[in-house]
Amino acid sequence: MKLYPFTDFFKGFEKVQAVRSTHLDRRTEEVLRNLKVEFFSFKFGYMTVSDVDGHILISTYHLRNSDFKVLYLDIIHELVHVKQFMDGRQLFSSEYEYVDNPTEVEAYRNAVREAKRIGMTDEEIIEYLKVEWVNEASHTRLVEAVGLKIE
Ligand SMILES: [Zn+2]
Repeated sequence: MKLYPFTDFFKGFEKVQAVRSTHLDRRTEEVLRNLKVEFFSFKFGYMTVSDVDGHILISTYHLRNSDFKVLYLDIIHELVHVKQFMDGRQLFSSEYEYVDNPTEVEAYRNAVREAKRIGMTDEEIIEYLKVEWVNEASHTRLVEAVGLKIE
């Protein structure tokens, strides 16, 4: 496993308000400076945060094939998990379905706020919230949990 400095690949995230508020503003630079990323090449999975040491894992397939906005929002999402990990919260839980896990809802809410700020429409955001391992009923729950409605 090879870890790289996050800031070698992802620039300017310390200036994004959605990230600053997640990391309580003053510590943002420090958190991002110390953050590591690992790249993996499997086709499945996009990004996640290690529940062992809090580094971000990113699929190179996802990086090559996804829309820039999707990647941007995924990073915003994962940076919430980085904070949750630092706070000692349990990132993954078999107690909840993926879309009901409070750590996921919090991460998605932050990403959706940012999506709105950068001008994405509700339709685009609802589409963004579709992930292949989530069925339609769960997708609808997630959409509602972030305060949107499927027309
Ligand atoms: Zn997540």
